[in-house]
Amino acid sequence: MLKNPVPYGRQHITEADIATVVETLQSDFLTQGPKVAEFEQAFARYVGAKYAVAVSNGTAALHLCTIALGVNEASRVITTPITFVASANCVRYCGGTVEFADIDPTTALIDIAQVRQMVESKPKGYYSGIIPVDFAGNPVNLEQLRELADEHGLWIIEDAAHAPGGFFVDSKGEQQLCGNGRFAELAIFSFHPVKHIATSEGGMVTTNDEELYKKLLLYRTHGITREADLLEENHGGWYMEMQALGYNYRIPDMLCALGLSQLSRADEGMARRRQIAKIYDAAFAGTAGIEVLGTNLAAITESGETGHAYHLYVIQVADRKGLYNFLREHNIFAQVHYIPAHTMPYYRSLGYKKGDFPKAERYYEACLSLPMYPTLTNEEQQFVIEKVIGFIKE
Ligand SMILES: *Cc1c(COP(=O)(O)O)cnc(C)c1O
Repeated sequence: MLKNPVPYGRQHITEADIATVVETLQSDFLTQGPKVAEFEQAFARYVGAKYAVAVSNGTAALHLCTIALGVNEASRVITTPITFVASANCVRYCGGTVEFADIDPTTALIDIAQVRQMVESKPKGYYSGIIPVDFAGNPVNLEQLRELADEHGLWIIEDAAHAPGGFFVDSKGEQQLCGNGRFAELAIFSFHPVKHIATSEGGMVTTNDEELYKKLLLYRTHGITREADLLEENHGGWYMEMQALGYNYRIPDMLCALGLSQLSRADEGMARRRQIAKIYDAAFAGTAGIEVLGTNLAAITESGETGHAYHLYVIQVADRKGLYNFLREHNIFAQVHYIPAHTMPYYRSLGYKKGDFPKAERYYEACLSLPMYPTLTNEEQQFVIEKVIGFIKE
């Protein structure tokens, strides 16, 4: 039996993390101070993007993206049903219409071929954009999606909440980091405790587009600016203008300090996640009745290296509920990601119904996310493997 319960994911807070938060608490700035820009710059560097804007959470990041791209009542946006609901909700915040495309069952990522069919069956301008999700840390092939988007004048918001440090390999053989801004106009990340980098609550938008970057900054702080060259008038040193209806989506300096400290260990965490995945892969290979969710082939290098960021390690089994309950009895708290968004009562109230996206629904019936986080010990993982295989072979 395990000493401690094993969840599907958890944060890792070190003494250095705590020290930097305390130090920031004792500094002059609790919010709007120097740690914000420092975190933004370090994060932009980490994912290879030009600009980054730190915000209060990943959902706020998504909302800022839809505002910056001008989503409104006339906008139709395509996303996947296998995601956290925030990926779709950000379109609704701006009054837009959410349309789902079914998944590719081998990866549970949005099926690009189906997105193409949807887009090509409508006149140009019918859709405004696409929100692909690097689900489980499995990177979407954004080069393919960009091609489609360019043909039809669509924008892309990459929901990379699961995938800081993930990459896919483009047609030239180059590794393209999730959120690097080369293919999607905007990308978002979340720093919720179960995600790779934990600030308790927190999020980030990355982009290579200066104009969008400026809009994000404006809308993050009430639509207020103090920048001299942006002001319509100037009454003196105190003067500022509210130029648009923005929000308070700021993140405090203590949390940015925590994020910086966490980010300094991101490569270690990524390596450990991939190591854990390898151990699961080897253990489950050839076990009839356990199907490991596939890695996007675009995320595997020629030498066999993986760009999968492994936020989640997902298996599919026939008796998912049985396995879920069995693991709980043994103090293992596996989880289900996700209940398809279109089957949520809210989206059903907008006209969606069960049966609309059969591949997503079939995936949901069988999926289970096993413990996956850097501090999972080998003993704990072996116990999880033993219990999973034991249940399946029963
Ligand atoms: C966590 C998550 C979000 C939202 O992030 P929060 O920080 O919790 O608001 C958005 N999209 C996906 C795919 C997520 O997993």
